[in-house]
Amino acid sequence: MQCFCGMSHDLGRRGFLGALMAAAVGAQAPAPQSAGPADPALIEDLVAANRILYDQGVVDGFGHVSTRHDKDPNRYLMSRSMAPALVTAEDILEYDLESTPIDQGGRAVYLERFIHGEIYKLRPDVRAIVHSHSPSVIPYANVKTQLKPMNHIAGFLGGGVPMFEIRDTAGPASDMLIRNPALGHALAVTLGPRPVALMRGHGSAAAAQSVRHVVFRAVYTEVNARMESEALRLGDPTFLNDEEAAAAMKTNDALVDRPWDLWKRRAMGK
Ligand SMILES: [Zn+2]
Repeated sequence: MQCFCGMSHDLGRRGFLGALMAAAVGAQAPAPQSAGPADPALIEDLVAANRILYDQGVVDGFGHVSTRHDKDPNRYLMSRSMAPALVTAEDILEYDLESTPIDQGGRAVYLERFIHGEIYKLRPDVRAIVHSHSPSVIPYANVKTQLKPMNHIAGFLGGGVPMFEIRDTAGPASDMLIRNPALGHALAVTLGPRPVALMRGHGSAAAAQSVRHVVFRAVYTEVNARMESEALRLGDPTFLNDEEAAAAMKTNDALVDRPWDLWKRRAMGK
């Protein structure tokens, strides 16, 4: 059976019968099942990602990072609602792609979790997502000057960085938050196949093939924004062209472990 997320997967006999029974009795859909324990190494990376993003100035009390579950592409893992720098393995919750927690256990969840579930639905290639309000990036979401790759490390910004205008979906009086699936879907559509989308008056979302890659992209989006603002003050910068940016991204994607090891040691204090 083909799911609308575009990935080929079998919903399974239990899921199909469950859906039939729910329809027969007019009941709500059954509670989502857990995919089981995630790889401890993946949880370790996710906890480290939370700490690194704070240490590198990408998140503060707000912002979040998630990863797809290694046992089931229809589940993702993300902290309960809390400051990222304080996250431990015990704080990680499992969600389905509707962004419903599997076992909430009375814990608060992020209002903007729909950013994650809706991007995972549209992007089978994405295995990790960062949402942040990093301060050097937001100005580029609010002006017509485009965020472009200043140097090779930010080659992933080549080809254009789309901007999400929440008024197009939520109207003129929202609180700017991605607080429902419709807004998350609209953001995911704006992101399209790109690695980063800006969110006007709010922040940005970064997507990648792993936790380490998405942390790399979130950190260097912030660094690139800083560099670009400085270059614009100095004069009329020459950016990487799309071919240079694509080639640089390919090279850098193989090198993300190098900064990761450094950032992790700093952020984890070991
Ligand atoms: Zn936000």
